Amino acid sequence: MRAEFAAGDLVAVLTTQPIDRLLDYKAPEGGCSTGDYVQVPLGPRQVLGCVWGAGRGDFDPGKIRPVHAVLDVAPMRAEMRQFLTRVADYTLTPMPAMLRLATRAPGLGDPPSMRKVYRLGQGVPERLTGARSRVLDVLRDHGGLAFTLKELADLAGVSGSVVKGLVALGAVNEEQSPRDMPYPTLDHMRPGKALTESQAAAAAGLCEGVEEGVYGTTLLKGVTGSGKTEVYLEAVARCLAMGRQALVLLPEIALTAEFLARVRDRFGAGPAEWHSGITMTERRRCWKMAGEGGAGLVIGARSALYLPFRDLGLIVVDEEHDQSYKQEDGVVYSARDMAVLRGSLCSAQVVLASATPSLESWANARAGKYQRLDLDARYGAVMPRMRTIDMRAEQTPAGRWISPTLQRAVEARLERGEQALMFLNRRGYAPVTLCRACGHQIGCDHCDARMVEHRFLKRLMCHQCGETKPMPETCPECGAEGRLAPVGPGVERMAEEVAELFPDARVAVLSSDLFASARALKEQILAIAGGAADIIIGTQLVAKGHNFPLLTLVGVIDADLGLHGSDLRAAERTFQLISQVSGRAGRADKPGEALVQSYQPEHPVIGAILSGDQESFLKAEAAEREAAGVPPFGRLAGIVLSSPDMGEVFDFGNELARRDAPLRRIGARLYGPAPAPIARIRGRHRVRLLVKADKGAPIQAAVAEWAGQLKAPANLRIQIDIDPQSFY
Ligand SMILES: [Zn+2]
Ligand SMILES: [Zn+2]
Repeated sequence: MRAEFAAGDLVAVLTTQPIDRLLDYKAPEGGCSTGDYVQVPLGPRQVLGCVWGAGRGDFDPGKIRPVHAVLDVAPMRAEMRQFLTRVADYTLTPMPAMLRLATRAPGLGDPPSMRKVYRLGQGVPERLTGARSRVLDVLRDHGGLAFTLKELADLAGVSGSVVKGLVALGAVNEEQSPRDMPYPTLDHMRPGKALTESQAAAAAGLCEGVEEGVYGTTLLKGVTGSGKTEVYLEAVARCLAMGRQALVLLPEIALTAEFLARVRDRFGAGPAEWHSGITMTERRRCWKMAGEGGAGLVIGARSALYLPFRDLGLIVVDEEHDQSYKQEDGVVYSARDMAVLRGSLCSAQVVLASATPSLESWANARAGKYQRLDLDARYGAVMPRMRTIDMRAEQTPAGRWISPTLQRAVEARLERGEQALMFLNRRGYAPVTLCRACGHQIGCDHCDARMVEHRFLKRLMCHQCGETKPMPETCPECGAEGRLAPVGPGVERMAEEVAELFPDARVAVLSSDLFASARALKEQILAIAGGAADIIIGTQLVAKGHNFPLLTLVGVIDADLGLHGSDLRAAERTFQLISQVSGRAGRADKPGEALVQSYQPEHPVIGAILSGDQESFLKAEAAEREAAGVPPFGRLAGIVLSSPDMGEVFDFGNELARRDAPLRRIGARLYGPAPAPIARIRGRHRVRLLVKADKGAPIQAAVAEWAGQLKAPANLRIQIDIDPQSFY
């Protein structure tokens, strides 16, 4: 193919460096084209860039330097350039940050790295030992395929030296092969699991959209265990059959092990993976193969959305309501919303799957923007029975959190050899450490937050900045000795109570901070699923789709926690979390029960959880938000200003507030500046402003113009969050 720009032509290059414009370069020897990834000189360095079009030529041509090299990777497609531009506009992110997000793989400019592979040779060894013939058998069985030394030795059950010996005799050939190999082809012809009528109907609905090869979004709603995964894997199969690529986003890597096994079952091989748990080499391979079409199915975390797919035909966002899809640092975006955007730009079908959909997705389905498919029948099990425990009527001893009613229910499970889960969404031992002499509560030195006791670590920890310190012997305020006391429960304290109440039970605590790695957590989850614990104590980590077949009782320790946040989604999140956790009970052949402890069982959210009437709950929530003009019925933009200097950050916030003309022009209202709910993090004082506008208002353009009026002092950081999810 002829290059668009001949050697020496001016081209405009977008780089990953924080520069607010495209830079002109001369096309290199051999020319280059729009979309080519290039290495360009910038000052004394070489930086990564992408050719964005013709150069502007408004700079002294004598000083323009040539492009250093065109990288040997698939060029960025027009669709991807459009996607990055649209996300940048939507989230008010500078383009260089978008390019960084889209190129987060190491060594893209390196020549392809090689590795040794082994293949059947011509020679026949004179002496054929058992080990040697096993190696040759493996190679013959796999008809000419090449293996790495480790793969071949493992398959044949021999040591590497046996293979090397055969190489010396010419019976096996040693060759160099590029390391970034295509992923194994997934066999979409393999029959899937037998589907129920409801599943088959939903699968047919999804496959129809995939076959048409056009954009469409479907909300796939189904209770825990209703077989959502089987259903959307049918859509993946159809997508692969059409020769297009599929992407499945999962909210948490700890979930991938179970999912990988299901993909292997279904397609006879594993997918490409993209998340923090893979090696750098594997990251580069995944990035390159997505671009070359050598990866049919990618599963990954939210940033997989920015992989350079050659022809993406299907995007699945599993557990679409999950908060972790919102990226809160750097480029602030919602992976769920951006998945819909990407799907619309590359003619892909988007599937949003959840048992407890977000109000946004539910409302879009109701408005007819999304198709909606419901899986009603629970696959192979019944829904758990749900009951509240009215804590006002229980004789729970002081300093304890498990009511007598819940205790009896756990005892009954222990007698039957079944598992019970105690759910409390609070890490650590106790949320507050109080001095009984002077009333002082131990806080973080750098944040406006209390330190949480982590008894397993024997330290106090700040959950905002991660700072830890040893538990003091004396009160830092009044010096009293031995008067510091924990107040309130965390999961570690629950473990203590459980050990006292049920001394013979085996107890496991599942909390993200107790595991050094995702792998360790995965192993623990598998062990528990296999019956290694009688009582599980867990934070929201347990709400996320882990399958515990022996679990028949879920006790929600404090359902009131989170009901009264300042957050507009507090009710929605409580509903989702408790419904998801309760859904863990009774997945296999044993019916489950969920007991929900509350001091206000008459609260409408608790009532909605118990009745399982999600539609009524969402309707009531939607009506409230519509009346208040908040998302999804209005637009919000959150602005957080932070600086080590409290006076400076307030002055700047007040000055911004005075210059609100660009906001008033679109009919938007500005709230603040006000101290953020957490007024100091890592020594930085935080001030919030909130912009509220009508649904159709061009909020991004107005906010960009408004915030762009003032140059921030060097120390002051401005973070703009369009459609904020959290308000801390
Ligand atoms: Zn004190
Ligand atoms: Zn802190």
